[in-house]
Amino acid sequence: MNLRDKLLLAQVPLALALLVVGLLAVNTLDRVGRAGQDILADNYRSVLAMQRIIEHLERLDSAALFIVSGEQQRGVEQADAHFQPLELELRLQEGNITEPGETEATQALRRAWTRYRADYDAFVGLGAAHARRGAYFETLSPAFRTAKAATQAILALNQDAMVRKSDALQRQSQRVNTLMVTAVVVALVGGLLASASLTHRALRPVAVLSQAVQRLGRGDLDTRAVVEGRDEIAGLARDFNSMAEALRQYRRSSLGELLQAQAASQAAIDSLPDPVVVFGVDGGVLNVNRSAEELLRLSLEGAGGSLGQVTPEGRSVLERVRAHVLGGKGPYLPRGYEEAVRVDGPDGGRWLLPRGSPVYGEAGGVAGATVLLQDVTRLRRFDELKNDLVATVAHEFRTPLTSLRMAIHLCAEEVAGPITEKQADLLFAAREDCERLQGIVDDLLDLSKLQAGRIVLEVRRVSTETVLEDALAPHRAAADAGNVRLTARPAPDVLEVAADPERLQLVLSNLVANAVRHTGPGGDVVVRARSDGERVRFEVADTGVGIAPEHQSRIFEKFYRVPGENTGGAGLGLSIAQEIVQAHGGEMGLTSQPGQGSTFWFTLPQTAARPG
Ligand code: ADP
Repeated sequence: MNLRDKLLLAQVPLALALLVVGLLAVNTLDRVGRAGQDILADNYRSVLAMQRIIEHLERLDSAALFIVSGEQQRGVEQADAHFQPLELELRLQEGNITEPGETEATQALRRAWTRYRADYDAFVGLGAAHARRGAYFETLSPAFRTAKAATQAILALNQDAMVRKSDALQRQSQRVNTLMVTAVVVALVGGLLASASLTHRALRPVAVLSQAVQRLGRGDLDTRAVVEGRDEIAGLARDFNSMAEALRQYRRSSLGELLQAQAASQAAIDSLPDPVVVFGVDGGVLNVNRSAEELLRLSLEGAGGSLGQVTPEGRSVLERVRAHVLGGKGPYLPRGYEEAVRVDGPDGGRWLLPRGSPVYGEAGGVAGATVLLQDVTRLRRFDELKNDLVATVAHEFRTPLTSLRMAIHLCAEEVAGPITEKQADLLFAAREDCERLQGIVDDLLDLSKLQAGRIVLEVRRVSTETVLEDALAPHRAAADAGNVRLTARPAPDVLEVAADPERLQLVLSNLVANAVRHTGPGGDVVVRARSDGERVRFEVADTGVGIAPEHQSRIFEKFYRVPGENTGGAGLGLSIAQEIVQAHGGEMGLTSQPGQGSTFWFTLPQTAARPG
């Protein structure tokens, strides 16, 4: 049975109740109507007949009085007009006996009437007037009263019956009223209850289905809607069950694949020897590899994704890289090994160099950050070893180099005896190389002192204008020779900077020398100083050859020179400059486009007070 039929069926009890009440009402009304008719048929007809009989009797009596009073003719005529109708009425009554005792009363009336009639005939037959009068008073009048009394008895009988029946009818109609009201109420309540129960039963599968849908919504894919039958809801339940089954299979397969992929990626990052930390977009730790757990003492379970248990150094570097990547600045690449932080691991101190890369979400926005801390402990040790070696070698070179320079100098000046022109040329070349070697040795010693922090800076307020002019002066000749325009542009508002003037001079001098050296004829070298918040930013910009991107990151390394260039330097100038700037608490960098020129910049703290 389909749902529509079930709902229609649910209305049947109400309709049946209505039908029963209707039939009951029709039947009862019919019975009440018939009872009324019965009263009319049974009693009212008798009442009318009796009233007419009394009327006839009285007219007969008055006719007898006419006869007694000598109006024979009139009396006889009047009497004849009433015998027949009275007889008819009496017969009518005899055919309409309905009440108990009415038979006897009617028989009594018949007898009284028969006697009255006989007496009347005898009375009319009397000739003498006085005989008539005597007969009237002795026989006729008593017979008249007897007949009238008998009639009145029947009348009363029927009237009483009418009153009784009318009362009974009234009572019956009251009972019918009560019965009807009760029947309507019972039918209504019963019908409604039955309809409600049937409707409820018809719609119960909807509730079952709805609960199953809710359970599925909460993620219970094993839920099924158990609905018997073949109606629309049972069909819907079957469809729902197949959908739930398909979903369960899909989840089983996709979940399995997902778990496998996750296990594979976890194994991959666990296999990395360097610590890896994955941050969510809100900055919380989403995942760490085993190395991060061991080295940084970072675990996902304990701290609920915070960096609370990481050492302060480790935390600060992780937070810095995280802020960089999540701030949408792209991948984070370290500028050099000096960015490595020392972290105490289970087997001694480790130097870790941070790198960060964004994790992109489906919409293309940054959804997280992966930070890898590259273990550069061994590289740093090599670097330290190299520095130490270089410093030792430079130091050891100094004394023999000084005696060498002295010896060459004495020979060249012919203190040790005369020399030929050819010998003099050789000695001059040797002296030049010794000077260059001395420069390199000095640079190396300077650098090692700077790196070891053994150089004490004499920080003073220095006028930027003077610094720029002093830095440019030694290079003007070289610039003029190379047809390069050399300009200083100190910003008018930046007048003083906190720096060691000699060292600052050295930095600027190095940068200007490089710029002039790498700028062709007709080019420009501009040296600027401008305010940059709390700092002063110096820039040395040239329109020279520029530096390819692959060399830019390494240009500040010791001994690094762009391959294929032979400028005579040892590749130490920029490293020294950077060490000096960093010793001042500043930063150094460059921007460059090959073929268009380079701009080297560095920042230094600005002095608080500015002369007005
Ligand atoms: P050097 O003392 O040998 O010049 P630096 O450390 O000063 O060493 O410079 C390193 C390398 O950087 C140089 O070999 C040069 O190739 C390159 N370089 C430095 N400044 C510039 C510049 N302004 N334009 C192009 N290349 C430059």
